[in-house]
Amino acid sequence: MSLVNKQLRYVVEAVRDNREALSEYIYRLYERIERYEEKLKGFITLRPADTVIREALEANRLGKPLAGIPIAVKDNISTEGIRTTCASAILENYIPPYDATVVKRLREAGAVIIGKTNMDEFAMGSTTETSYFGPSRNPWDPSRVPGGSSGGSGVVVSAYMAPAALGSDTGGSVRNPAAYTGIFGYKPTYGGLSRYGLIAYASSLDQIGLMTRDSVDAALLLEYIAGEDPRDPTSLDLRVGGLFKEISSLGEGRDLPKARLVIVKEMWSGVEDHVFKTTMNAVDKLSSEGFEVEEVSVPEVSYALPAYYVIAFAEASSNLSRYGIPLYGLSKDPENTSWIDYYSEIRSKGFGKEVKRRIMLGSFILSAGYYEQYYIKALKVRRLLRDRLLPLLRRGYIASPTMPIQPPRLGEAIEDPLRLYAMDIETVIPNLIGSPAISLVAGFANSLPVGLQLIGPPLGDRDLLLIARTIEIIIGLSNLSPQMG
Ligand code: GLN
Repeated sequence: MSLVNKQLRYVVEAVRDNREALSEYIYRLYERIERYEEKLKGFITLRPADTVIREALEANRLGKPLAGIPIAVKDNISTEGIRTTCASAILENYIPPYDATVVKRLREAGAVIIGKTNMDEFAMGSTTETSYFGPSRNPWDPSRVPGGSSGGSGVVVSAYMAPAALGSDTGGSVRNPAAYTGIFGYKPTYGGLSRYGLIAYASSLDQIGLMTRDSVDAALLLEYIAGEDPRDPTSLDLRVGGLFKEISSLGEGRDLPKARLVIVKEMWSGVEDHVFKTTMNAVDKLSSEGFEVEEVSVPEVSYALPAYYVIAFAEASSNLSRYGIPLYGLSKDPENTSWIDYYSEIRSKGFGKEVKRRIMLGSFILSAGYYEQYYIKALKVRRLLRDRLLPLLRRGYIASPTMPIQPPRLGEAIEDPLRLYAMDIETVIPNLIGSPAISLVAGFANSLPVGLQLIGPPLGDRDLLLIARTIEIIIGLSNLSPQMG
């Protein structure tokens, strides 16, 4: 059987002392890409096969632990010498002069970047439709979106064009596309992975995350990229040493660890019927396998979404003020133009509609008079949520559907911003409280995968991944293959 359908850890084992198997594997990935990429648009920049094979063989020859395995990287994570666009016209030709820390660590461990994946412009969106390069499509049903904003990363992992991908998650952008494309998505504790080299959207919420075929592959990669980074003062030590070994041995004879699941009632209201049923069935199954399930009410969670969007817009308007100067991508000859004309022309041309909407609303939110009314109030809600949810997370894991609805068809959600924002109602909560969270496949509805979200306490990443593995084993729906024409 071809290695292409295997999880990353098995590929690494198979190619470790076998350079022929490695080039054969990469060649097969490119065959898949050639066949499906035109329809699915997972990549913004795909590197040439011979370059990737050459770098892979070199890493393999040097005996690096990841043995030359190709990995896809979301296009808002800086890669030295490889174009990094954030799916925006304003950065269309931007080539970073350095690697993000996570990319550097992956490369040092012997991974090779296969390409940069499609996303919503500046990670602002939930469907990958705001990309300047056009939308990605869902491998399970190409008339539907793959989720977002790391939609391209979801597509390439799900459709076997790469064994794993990096994404970023400000309010769900790793977990949303993981749920919609039927893979595993993991957003670490805030600070759990260095953000050095991640192009900022909303800095107090942004995290880099992993998108893989299951939790064991995520644990493997995490061990190589985690750890404090002096270049990101918010980074911290997740203490995940030995995790891969531990997680790989789960289910081999010994009893699986069990946990308590906390059902916050309000996170299940307003969820589409078949999503509700599929996710609740998974919870019932876990309960029959020895998980404790506790139901609680936290009315404050209904304020999470508006608080998230106020904070995200405010931070985005500040972060994105740096574009429009000749240093990055799109520029023009500044001769005979006033600074203000120059700046507004570049920004009018360079940013798409959704990004402009957010910059304008964000500037409004931060303006004198409205600052207290919106921004400070949102920060208070954030604090309140932490105070209410952190004690619950000391008792168990908060379980909910990852997405309240199934993947919309292309064009369906994008026209109505409020509908688009409402898709994030479950996923913004962990970002607001700094918690780690995962999404895994709970089951199917209408022949599409449905995601279960699990939220853990800050710094509880190790145990969260171990529990995620237990659930994967019990539910038995990891490493899925979409039926593709
Ligand atoms: N959909 C959310 C937003 O647009 C989250 C995006 C993200 O996590 N990058 O803000």
